[in-house]
Amino acid sequence: MLTCKEVSRTIASDEVTTADWRQRLAVKLHLLMCRHCRRYTRQMQAIGEAARQILSDTPPDRGSRDRLRDSILDQLPPAAENDSNSRV
Ligand SMILES: [Zn+2]
Repeated sequence: MLTCKEVSRTIASDEVTTADWRQRLAVKLHLLMCRHCRRYTRQMQAIGEAARQILSDTPPDRGSRDRLRDSILDQLPPAAENDSNSRV
């Protein structure tokens, strides 16, 4: 079983796309069981999407920016939930 640290490193570095099937399966199994890493993965995906929009030639319209901001903020934990119980 992978640790949260190993999974978060794999997700953040995008190694999961080049990993062999055993590593990808281990990451998927961990994500099935760990809500902290699932949340982290969603946040990384939102950040990636925001970066792609920022780097695109056509700037997002105000509605898109607002929806993206709201989507990111919805996925962030409340300040009180950002505790030391997370193993990430
Ligand atoms: Zn985890």
